[in-house]
Amino acid sequence: MLKQILCTLAAGTFATLGPSALAAPAPRLIVAISVDQFSADLYAEYRPYYTAGLKRLSGGIVFPSGYQSHGATETCPGHSTILTGARPARTGIVANEWIDQSLARADKQVYCAEDPRVPGSSSKSYTASAQHLKVPTLGDRLKAASPQSVVVSVAGKDRAALMLGGHEVDELWFWDGLRYTTLAGRAGTPPPAVDVANATAAKAIASPVSAALPEPCRGHAHAVPVGSRTVGLAARRPAGDARAFRTALEFDRATTDLALDLLRARGLGTHATTDLLAIGLSATDYVGHVYGVEGAEMCAQVLSVDQNVGRILAALDGLKVPYLVVLTADHGGHDLPERIRRHAIPDAARVDPALNPETLGRRLAGEFGLAGPALMAVAPAGDIYLARSVPEALRPRVLEAARAAYAAHPQVAAVYTAAELHRLLAPVNPVDEWTLAERLRASFDPERSGDLLVVLKPHVTPIADPSVYVATHGSPWNYDRRVPILFYYPGVEGYEQPLPVETVDIAPTLASWIPLALPADEIDGRCLEIAPEGSPTCPGSLPGAH
Ligand code: ZN
Repeated sequence: MLKQILCTLAAGTFATLGPSALAAPAPRLIVAISVDQFSADLYAEYRPYYTAGLKRLSGGIVFPSGYQSHGATETCPGHSTILTGARPARTGIVANEWIDQSLARADKQVYCAEDPRVPGSSSKSYTASAQHLKVPTLGDRLKAASPQSVVVSVAGKDRAALMLGGHEVDELWFWDGLRYTTLAGRAGTPPPAVDVANATAAKAIASPVSAALPEPCRGHAHAVPVGSRTVGLAARRPAGDARAFRTALEFDRATTDLALDLLRARGLGTHATTDLLAIGLSATDYVGHVYGVEGAEMCAQVLSVDQNVGRILAALDGLKVPYLVVLTADHGGHDLPERIRRHAIPDAARVDPALNPETLGRRLAGEFGLAGPALMAVAPAGDIYLARSVPEALRPRVLEAARAAYAAHPQVAAVYTAAELHRLLAPVNPVDEWTLAERLRASFDPERSGDLLVVLKPHVTPIADPSVYVATHGSPWNYDRRVPILFYYPGVEGYEQPLPVETVDIAPTLASWIPLALPADEIDGRCLEIAPEGSPTCPGSLPGAH
């Protein structure tokens, strides 16, 4: 399907807009920055303290209420929307992990950025791949229209680099837990920039950290006990802990350095056609999961993102060519219930272990006399699958019993069947007014999604045991859907528009500046008119119309 689209593009039915449509110079380089778990709330909370890159972007074009519109607000679905212009229902990336009972391998769980056809692989020990992504990215379309354009994707997570980069990326690097690496088929001698980044990361991992908090973060330091730990103070990590490195300020710094070194090594922005650089800064997400989003740890992390973005903009200024930057996030986030209860919402809670799908599946197996558990799932909420072993004749009754059991639980807000979501029409209301079902439909794929979609009530955290991760995201509630969308280019006359726009609007907006026409029937987003007055870029725009 994707190959077909790309071949059609290369064959020339993929029209570019005429040069007369654009008065401003076309950017020689487009840079898309995704800050993992950088919610609209976090962006707003620290806005008075930005001094570097986020301050400059905040003087550009600011959509403080952007939306990852869909219900499955996880990293892989979110990243799949940013540079495709398509919602997860169309990208096929319905979750970070889903269940595929047709797989021959014992592990029926599928990781969004793996190729499960590789013999001996599992969802935990896999070969990284973009093959689940059903649509082309902006980079793929750019390469099809102008093969000399260079597309580079660098991120702290493989799924971020792959979903932003796509299928035809020239350079793709991601942190695999121990080092920056690339796809299996691309092995060979890594560029010197990668060796430098890995040496820097190794040195950082080997050193213990007990960093002093930046001045604006001191007031955020309040100890919050959770399980056997305490969060809310300055982050600390022992020497040699590679897992903890992911929450360290050095992590995003190393990813940023690698992206900028590759920018220079590949001569991005120096070619006759537009190049594309995607950067995924992942540490904010790990800080959110390990420490929560409202403590001093996150304050220090967000101010560090500000510095890294500042370094990216400085490097772009140094090119002395027209460039266009967008910064957004793959999803929002939610704080740990222990702190939320203290500060705001008394009924914030952790999920009841009784909602564990395995527990519920065994109970149903007992009721219906089944040989094995009736349900399969990756998490306590979201996609719940009826096991293939449930006999055909019993399936409707078991599904209904499962639906009723979930719906009866006081922590469950809603349960939908796949059939209910499948027959929903496209939403007509603005994205902040969508119904719960409409949100879920936007990340529903009949081939990959569950037989039931379970939504927990707001402020119910689907982590029962907080010993490793204390907080998370992934719900269809707005704290997980709302993200900032910031555009910037040299000479921009800034403005702020608080009305909701979507991350799927980013790709058609960027494309209009290249200019490349994205076929309207292949995307879900709309072009946002962000060009200077009198030189609109969006197809159909009239001068002065915005
Ligand atoms: Zn994420």
